[in-house]
Amino acid sequence: MKLSEIYSTDKTVISYEVFPPKSEPKNLLKEIRILAKHKPAFVSLTYGAGGNENKSFSLLKNIKDTGINIMPHFTCITSCMESVDNGINKLIEIGAENILALRGDIPENTELQCHDFKHANELVKFIKEKTNMSIGVAGYPEGHIESPDLKTDIEYLKKKVDAGADAIFTQLFFENSFFYDFINRVRDAGITIPVIAGIMPVISQNQVKKMTSMANISIPDKLKKGLEKYKENDLVEFGIEFAAEQCENLLKNGVKGLHFYTLNKAYSTDKILNKIKI
Ligand code: FAD
Repeated sequence: MKLSEIYSTDKTVISYEVFPPKSEPKNLLKEIRILAKHKPAFVSLTYGAGGNENKSFSLLKNIKDTGINIMPHFTCITSCMESVDNGINKLIEIGAENILALRGDIPENTELQCHDFKHANELVKFIKEKTNMSIGVAGYPEGHIESPDLKTDIEYLKKKVDAGADAIFTQLFFENSFFYDFINRVRDAGITIPVIAGIMPVISQNQVKKMTSMANISIPDKLKKGLEKYKENDLVEFGIEFAAEQCENLLKNGVKGLHFYTLNKAYSTDKILNKIKI
């Protein structure tokens, strides 16, 4: 089922993000099967810069075989047009109806092979012209890290939407007010497609440090205090409570979709979904 159809319902849609594991995929597939009981509309699989593409394609097939729809991520900044074309053809062969079209991060200290795609809007246009896939794009409630300000970032987001995107998936956020402000700005810019909230359960101090060093993500006081107070399992349980409260508030405010950054583990996302009422 395509994103355009998935988000046409009045009910909040659940989906999960996973990444290609370093080890055999069977453990990840076990975690996905646990989370299947919450009836996700799809599982999205990240696309690693320099990752093993063939491994990703076979994992996507494995996920599809569990009976769950897929949304492969696809980045373009390090690729030439021919390899983008081949990659997309392979995704279509696998049966992917949806794709998350991304620029990707510009690799440091590496000369780019090609300059065929400079920004995600160019990839969206390419996919739209070539395929019938439904296209998701990334959005940044606190602004993309390279962007001078949120207003400029949303002007570029509009280019992705005008090129043919069907839904916006946000970077994770811990403070819902940024998401609500983002929605208002996006709607003021004339963007009408669904905006899906990215939710990441906190599981460790290192995870939060890593995320906040790579992107504009604010840590509210309550989370700061929890990170100081709790360690290991207690922090995981605190992270579940925190994310469940965040989701309850989003649901109360009519969020179209909750996209969980599962970190390849069912435990936290499963408990959050058991706590909230969709
Ligand atoms: P763009 O939309 O191209 O934006 C990048 C920057 O350029 C922004 O600052 C924007 O304001 C600006 N910009 C946009 N268009 C233009 C234009 N036409 N002219 C000038 N400036 C412009 N990374 C991965 O490597 N693999 C993944 O699987 C992955 N999954 C992700 C999933 C989600 C939901 C999100 C939010 C991010 C994900 N990322 C992933 C990270 C993403 O690749 C980075 O944030 C990257 O730096 C930007 O990608 P983008 O598609 O948002 O780029």
